[in-house]
Amino acid sequence: MSKKWVYLFTEGNASMRDLLGGKGAGVAEMTRTGVPVPPGFTITTEACNEYYARGRQFPEGLWEQTLEALKVIEAQVGKKFGDPTNPLLVSVRSGARESMPGMMDTVLNLGLNKETLEGLARLTDNRRFAADAYRRFIQLFGKIVLGVDGEKFEHVMNEAKGKDRQDTDLTADELMQIAETFKTIIKEDTGIDFPEDPYEQLRMAITAVFNSWMGRRAVDYRRVYKIPDTLGTGVNVQMMVFGNMGNDSATGVAFTRNPATGEDELYGEYLVNAQGEDVVAGIRTPKPLSKLREEMPEVYQQFSEIAKMLERHYKDVQDVEFTIERGKLWMLQTRNGKRTGMAAVKIAVDMVNEGVIDKRTALRRVQPEMLNQFLFPIVNPGAAEHATRLAHGLAAGPGAAQGRIVLDPDEAAARSEQGERVILVRTETAPEDFHGMVASQAILTARGGLTSHAAVVARQLGKCCVCGCGDLEIDYKAGTVHVHGTDTILKEGDWITVDGHSGWVYAGQVETREAEVIQVIRGQMKPEDSKLYGYFSTFLSWADEVRRLGVRANADTPTDARIARLFGAEGIGLCRTEHMFFEGDRIDAVREMIVAETVEDRRKALAKIEPLQQGDFEGIFEVMDGLPVTIRTLDPPLHEFLPHGDREIEELAHKMGINPAQLKAKVESLREANPMLGFRGCRLGIEYPEITEMQARAIFRAAANCQARGIHVHPEIMIPLVGDVSELRMQGDIVRRVADEVMAETGQKIDYLLGTMIEVPRAALTADKIATVAEFFSFGTNDLTQMTFGMSRDDAGRFLPAYVESKLLKDDPFEVLDQEGVGQLVRMAVERGRSTRPDLKTGICGEHGGEPESVKFCHRVGLNYVSCSPYRVVIARLAAAQAVLEEQKD
Ligand code: ADP
Ligand code: MG
Ligand code: MG
Repeated sequence: MSKKWVYLFTEGNASMRDLLGGKGAGVAEMTRTGVPVPPGFTITTEACNEYYARGRQFPEGLWEQTLEALKVIEAQVGKKFGDPTNPLLVSVRSGARESMPGMMDTVLNLGLNKETLEGLARLTDNRRFAADAYRRFIQLFGKIVLGVDGEKFEHVMNEAKGKDRQDTDLTADELMQIAETFKTIIKEDTGIDFPEDPYEQLRMAITAVFNSWMGRRAVDYRRVYKIPDTLGTGVNVQMMVFGNMGNDSATGVAFTRNPATGEDELYGEYLVNAQGEDVVAGIRTPKPLSKLREEMPEVYQQFSEIAKMLERHYKDVQDVEFTIERGKLWMLQTRNGKRTGMAAVKIAVDMVNEGVIDKRTALRRVQPEMLNQFLFPIVNPGAAEHATRLAHGLAAGPGAAQGRIVLDPDEAAARSEQGERVILVRTETAPEDFHGMVASQAILTARGGLTSHAAVVARQLGKCCVCGCGDLEIDYKAGTVHVHGTDTILKEGDWITVDGHSGWVYAGQVETREAEVIQVIRGQMKPEDSKLYGYFSTFLSWADEVRRLGVRANADTPTDARIARLFGAEGIGLCRTEHMFFEGDRIDAVREMIVAETVEDRRKALAKIEPLQQGDFEGIFEVMDGLPVTIRTLDPPLHEFLPHGDREIEELAHKMGINPAQLKAKVESLREANPMLGFRGCRLGIEYPEITEMQARAIFRAAANCQARGIHVHPEIMIPLVGDVSELRMQGDIVRRVADEVMAETGQKIDYLLGTMIEVPRAALTADKIATVAEFFSFGTNDLTQMTFGMSRDDAGRFLPAYVESKLLKDDPFEVLDQEGVGQLVRMAVERGRSTRPDLKTGICGEHGGEPESVKFCHRVGLNYVSCSPYRVVIARLAAAQAVLEEQKD
C-alpha cells in the first residue's frame, strides 16, 4: 500500500495546514462548516517533497489516488472529466503552508478540449461563455504550465479588443479565433501541440505546480520572508464554478475588515462576468462590494453572513475569494488577511474589546516590526495644500514617499542599487515585478483595488502604495505617464510624491513630516486627538503587563533620551561619551588632548572638556529622573578624532598653532594596521588614566548636582573592551576613587554601579573572575559577534551578503544575534558571572537589542534588560512580551 497522498476536501480540516497547505486546509474547513465550496481534493505537501526526493518524479501511488479522488467528485456532482456530453472542468491550484500571494499560479477550466468545449456550449446554451472559458484555459495553461511569455497572449487580446472594447465585448467567434492564435503561439514557442487529453492536461498541471515550488519567484519570495524550502506545496484540484457566465455571474475578493485601516467593515471588490484572477490582476476596474448589495441583494446578504461567520470561526480577519455562478454563491478560499501594522494593532485591540480574543492572542497577532509603521512619515498637510495634485487612488500601503518615476521593475532595482530614490509606476503589478517593488520607495498603480497584487505585496512589505489611480495612463514604450483630462505628461525620472495614507499623488517633491504617533510623543499633538496613538499605547501597555525583560534605550543626548522615555524606555542601557567629544568646538580640546606631549598638557585639555561633559550628563540625568543610566567611558580609537588628508592636517595645525609636521607625525603614529583590534576601549584609559578620571568626575559631579536638585540618579559606569579582570580592576579603582572624592566634596551619597561590557570573547570565558569586580555586564554584541566570527564589521559588507544569499548563514549575524555561537558565549557568561555574584545585573546593548528574535533570546537566557535605539523600544517591548507567551505553549 502506498502512502496517502490525496485528501478529499471532506477529509481535511483547518489543523492540517502543514500537510494540505493553507489553501487546502482552508477549503476543507469551509466544507466542514457547511459553507458552499465547489468539491475537490488536495494533493499533500509531502507528495511535493517526495516528488523532489525522487528527482522530479510523481511518488508511487499518487496518480492512482488522484484518479480515484476524481471519480468521487464526478459521482458527487454528476459530471465526468473529459466527457463530451457533460464535462467536469477543474482548477488546479497550488497552496503552501504559508500563503504566498501570486507566487504560484492557478490553471482554470482544465479539462477543455475541442469536444468538451462543444459539450459545455451545448449544456449551458452559451457558446460565448464556453469560448471564453476555452481561451482562458489555453492562455493560463500556455503561460503557467508550458512557460510561454504571458505578454504574447495579452498582446493578442489587446489587439483583438482594440481601443474601446473590454474583454467582455469580444464575441464567441472572436474568442475562438483568439484561442486558435494562442495555440499557434504555443506551438511556435515550445514545439508542443496543445494537449487534447484532459488526463494529460491534469498530469502536466500537477507537475507544473510542483515545479513552481522551486521557480525563481517562489524562491525569491521565500528568501525575503525566510520561509524554509522544505515545506513543499500542496496541489488543489477542484470543480470549476463560473463567474463568467453572464451578468448574473461574478467573481470577487473581500476582507472581513479593512486591511489598510483596520476599520470594522466588509471590504472588497468584484467584477461581473469575470473569472479568477481578473479582479486581482486589474483587467477591468472592479466595483466595490457595496455595489453588490444593490445589484444582487440576496447574494450580498448571504455573502456577508458567511464572511462574518468565517471571521468568528477563525477569530481573525479573513481574506476570502468568491464566485457567483448564475446567482449562486460559491466560496473558493479563506485565509487570515494580511494587514498593515496600523490595521493589525487596531484589529487586535478591537477584537479584545469585542470579546473575540484575549490580550495574549492580541499580542501574538502583531509582528513586532510592524509597529514601525506607526512611525512612518506622512505628507505635511501644509505643504500638500500648495502642491500640485496629479491624481487620486486607493491608499493601500502606509507612509509617504518621494521618488523618481520608474516604469520598469528591473530599472527600479538597478537605480535603487545606485542609491536613487525611485517610485515604481505600473498599470498593474504582477509577481515577476517583486524585486522592483522591494527596491522602490513606493508603488503606484493605475488599476486594481485594495486586494490587487500591488496592494497585497505593499502591505506585506510595509511599503507606501497607492493603487487604482484610474487617471494615470502609462505608456511603457514611450516611458511616460499621462494624467487623464489634463495635458500633464510625466516622464521617467520625474519626481513625484505618493501619500499612502490619503491616496493622493503629487507632482515633485512634497515635504513629508513625522507620523501622528511621533507628533504625540514630541508633544506637538494631544494624545486624545489621535485615535492611532490610542490604539498604539493601549496595545503596548498590554505588552508591558506580560513581559519580564526590561527595555532600555541607547541614547547619547538628552533629546534622544527624552524620545526613548516617551517610547517607554526604562532607562538608558548605553550612553556613548565619544559623541559628546565631537560636538561644537569641543573637538578642538579633544584634539589638543590627543596631540599633547605631557600629562600636564593633557590634563589642561581635558579640563576644558570636563565641564561640557558634565553638562551633558546633567541633561541626561534630568530626563531620566528615577531611571538607571549606563555610561560608557571613551571607546573609539583616537585617530577617529583627527583629520587624515594633508590639507586638513595643515589647516588644523595652523588653528592649533603647532607645526604641521609634528601633527602629521602624531596622526602617523596613531595609524593602525587593524584599528578594530587596536588602541581603543579601556586600553585608552589604561595608557591615559587621566581620561577615565576626567570622565568619572564629570559623571559624579553631574549626578551630585542633579541629586541636590531632587532628581533621582542611578549612574552605571561601564568600562568597554575588557578582556581580563585586571583591566577592569585598574579602571574601576579610578572610578571608585573619583566617586569617593566627589561624594566627599559635595556631601551627596550617590547610588551607582560599576560594570563592564562583555564584548571580547575572553571576557565571556572568564566571566566568573570579571564578576568579582563588575556589578553588571552589558553584552556588546556588535564587537562580540565580530570577534567571535573573526569578521570585521566594517569589511563584512563585501562577503557576508554572499553567505546569506547562499544560505551558508541563515541571517546576517550583525543583524540577528547568532544564538548558536555568540549566544553560547552570552549564556555562559551570564551563568559564570552569576555564580560569582548572584545579583549580577545583565543586559545587552548591541544592535541586536532591538531585533525581535534576538530580544526573545535575551529573555530566554535570563538577561535583565535589552537596550536598543529609541525608535526600536516599542518593538523590543512587544518582542519581550511575545517571548513570555512563547514559553506558555497554550
Ligand atoms: P492564488 O493563490 O493566486 O489566489 P487561487 O488558486 O486562489 O490562486 O486562484 C486564482 C483565482 O482563480 C482566484 O480568483 C480563485 O478564486 C479562482 N479559482 C480557483 N479555483 C476556482 C474554481 N474551482 N472555480 C472558480 N474559480 C476558481
Ligand atoms: Mg495568483
Ligand atoms: Mg486565491
